[in-house]
Amino acid sequence: MKNDMLHSDSDEPPERSIHIIDFKPFRQSTPQLPPLRSCIPSRSSAKPRRHGPRLTISERANTFRKRFYPGITISEWNDWRWQNRNRVRSAEDLARIIHLSDDEREAIARHVGSLPVGIPPYYASLLDPDNPEQPIRRTVVPVSGEYIRAPGEADDPLGEDDDSPVPGLVHRYPDRVLFLITNFCSTYCRYCTRSRLVGAAGERSLKKSDIERAIDYIAATPTVRDVLISGGDPLSLDDDRLDFILGRLRAIPHVEFLRIGSKQPAVMPQRITPSLVRVLKKYHPLWMSLHFTHPDELTPEVAEACTRLADAGVPLGSQTVLLKGVNDDVPTMKRLVHGLLKVRVKPYYLYQCDPISGSSHFRTTVDKGLEIIRGLRGYTTGYAVPSYVIDGPGGGGKIPLLPDYVLGRDGDDLLLTNYEGKVFRYPDPHGSLGRDKRPRHSRRRVKTPSCV
Ligand code: SF4
Repeated sequence: MKNDMLHSDSDEPPERSIHIIDFKPFRQSTPQLPPLRSCIPSRSSAKPRRHGPRLTISERANTFRKRFYPGITISEWNDWRWQNRNRVRSAEDLARIIHLSDDEREAIARHVGSLPVGIPPYYASLLDPDNPEQPIRRTVVPVSGEYIRAPGEADDPLGEDDDSPVPGLVHRYPDRVLFLITNFCSTYCRYCTRSRLVGAAGERSLKKSDIERAIDYIAATPTVRDVLISGGDPLSLDDDRLDFILGRLRAIPHVEFLRIGSKQPAVMPQRITPSLVRVLKKYHPLWMSLHFTHPDELTPEVAEACTRLADAGVPLGSQTVLLKGVNDDVPTMKRLVHGLLKVRVKPYYLYQCDPISGSSHFRTTVDKGLEIIRGLRGYTTGYAVPSYVIDGPGGGGKIPLLPDYVLGRDGDDLLLTNYEGKVFRYPDPHGSLGRDKRPRHSRRRVKTPSCV
């Protein structure tokens, strides 16, 4: 175990050992500031409830805790409810932690409605206090670009509201539904596809009556074999409510497969408690799609959270949105996908950023996405290569995109290029693929299939 792993100095039981991820603290050059108001423990938060072994705290987070939340113990820090209650919600709170740029300050001041500012103290500890261009900081701190609506952008670009038979449910594909059980997120990502919904009107879960209506709809629709529970972030609900919803869904005979989509393991790994894991384990087959954006999110705390889930038999996949200046280069993406495999998460999807209103400062060209896939495929483990997709605007669903490895056809042979640009010939006498292409590299050395 490395010495950057600290353990509770309180009455907590000893922490488990975990894999250590390459994790270098940022320079903390923010001047000494008065502690946040919220770091003064309230009567109700003075003694956190015990839920079994707590998560480890990294040296970086611990340094941050001591500096900005000096009255808070490690046990309180590691309590996900404390993290939720003490989210950074305002320019004033943020300015105590980072040097806000004028643009960030103005953007926060202008904000009204959904997608407010929300950053748990743990995730705030990952922000570079001096650099507004730091990738993680860009994903959670608003800038004025959010207020520019570029051509083709829309509040609901995927047309989810049009495919909603009852509140909280999106039924687009015949065999599966999306169940949006809350509009609450611990952290509000500035590029969120559901920015029209999340954090709106007081951050709340779906009403019990709407949950019942959605479950009734699923029960009455035998074609639905797969339910993806999302939001907002479904893991923001407490264990009992999750237990109730998962139990009701699992009791529907034709529902074969349950999934949860969550960013909590990345932004608040403290949420992955032993008691939550016990709830999840009851409802297998249960898979989880986690949301990671940048390799700097892969801290020791996150590694332990993912280990807990994986040890409980929950297959983990990561969904990553391709974001300009955040993760849109091959080295960053390679670091991310390698780091994910090390914490037992399969890179699942790489999404082209949806054209939500105010997203132009985040969106890259599609060429960039293809360049990244080309830079991964063949150069690293196949498991590390996500599927690159565009969610078809207007409700087209996920459309996969791949670099073109077909060069053309030479008689009965299909001409292919590999990741290194070498040309290979595959006997395909009855095929037609490549017939409409002129072989561009037919004069180059062509290998037989045995070379492939
Ligand atoms: S956690 Fe997910 S739902 Fe919540 S703001 Fe981020 S992307 Fe949107």
